[in-house]
Amino acid sequence: MIEVSKALKIVKRETRPLGAERVALEHAVGRVLAEDIHADVDMPPFDRSQMDGYAVKAADTMAAPVTLGILGESAAGQGWHKVLKTGEAVRIMTGAPIPAGADAVQKIELTTESNGVVSITEPTSVGKYIVYKGQEVKKGSKVLRAGEVISANNISIPAAFGYARVMVARRPRVAIISTGSEIVDVGRKPKRDQIRNSNSIMLKTLCEQAGAIARVFPIIGDDLSELKTQIKTAARGSDILITTGGVSVGKYDLTRLALKELGAECFFERLRLKPGKPTVFARLKKTLVFGLPGNPVSAAATFYLFVRKAILIMQGAVQCDLNNGTAIVSKPVRAPKERDAYLPAVLISESDGTLKADPLQWHGSSDFIGFAESDALISIPRGSAFDAGSPVPVLFL
Ligand code: AMP
Ligand code: MG
Repeated sequence: MIEVSKALKIVKRETRPLGAERVALEHAVGRVLAEDIHADVDMPPFDRSQMDGYAVKAADTMAAPVTLGILGESAAGQGWHKVLKTGEAVRIMTGAPIPAGADAVQKIELTTESNGVVSITEPTSVGKYIVYKGQEVKKGSKVLRAGEVISANNISIPAAFGYARVMVARRPRVAIISTGSEIVDVGRKPKRDQIRNSNSIMLKTLCEQAGAIARVFPIIGDDLSELKTQIKTAARGSDILITTGGVSVGKYDLTRLALKELGAECFFERLRLKPGKPTVFARLKKTLVFGLPGNPVSAAATFYLFVRKAILIMQGAVQCDLNNGTAIVSKPVRAPKERDAYLPAVLISESDGTLKADPLQWHGSSDFIGFAESDALISIPRGSAFDAGSPVPVLFL
């Protein structure tokens, strides 16, 4: 049995970035950037008005109320490109360029206009309602790094700087096989002793959330030769193969044997981890293979810890691990003597600002219905225990 921290290092050591491709920006959402994004212009590109109002010299408004002659208009997309002098004003719109000679804006609410003059009821000050050229970003600066994920929050950055197409990491191709003679397709009514395949669709969803292209292969019973054939087929052309089931020590747990007989190099097969002790990590030719336990919660937890990391490393992501933090645990929790525990928990934001982690009342690692509520894993080092009310490390799912 090896430590979780060591297993994570092995996954990192064995996983290589896949390379990049150029895609239209509109297809880049959820993809990992493979190039730095630089500003090709200052932002804003010119001194810009933040308000509808009048561009003026601030000094002219000191003795407000004052009247100034209106020389013209600066609209967004159509500026006024002469030079404003003392005693003059230019009607200006939000987003329009500030005329040369003006050093302030007074907003329309504090003015009245009639017959070519504007009366300004309150003074303004130098710089008021102006965003200066380059104030937000200087031309040439790096505005997004390679390794960041493109999202709704940041996609306007490459858009604003002309990246109609961007370099993004190639999406890892992941093959998924559920194994077990009791497992039947979702669309089937289970006969006696059978269980529907909930793992494949869950893992496909998790893979896609992490940026991979996932493909589900047919369910394989606990049969060594079928298992070998299917593993070989699924691994071909895949960057990662995930299997579930058949990795414990029972008579029909054949995944490890199948991998060995196919000549896979096995990096680890038992972890000091709960849930997920019998997790296998191997390489078959160029394909990384994760043999996850069949129990749905163990499969999900080990995916989150190991497979997700590999998928993100393959994409060169800067952030390959789950975000972590601290929360106050609501009930006593403990880890077994020889295994680190990752306990599913529900996070609750209390009105006083503390983040509480409520460990799930669940029925063990087969309880995917209980797990569905969780949004964090409390990570408890082996042999340790925390009382209710103590701070615990959490991983955000
Ligand atoms: P195993 O890891 O093969 O020992 O399976 C552990 C438990 O997980 C058993 O109760 C299986 O029936 C269940 N299980 C295995 N594979 C799946 C699957 N694809 N979907 C739902 N449950 C599964
Ligand atoms: Mg089984």
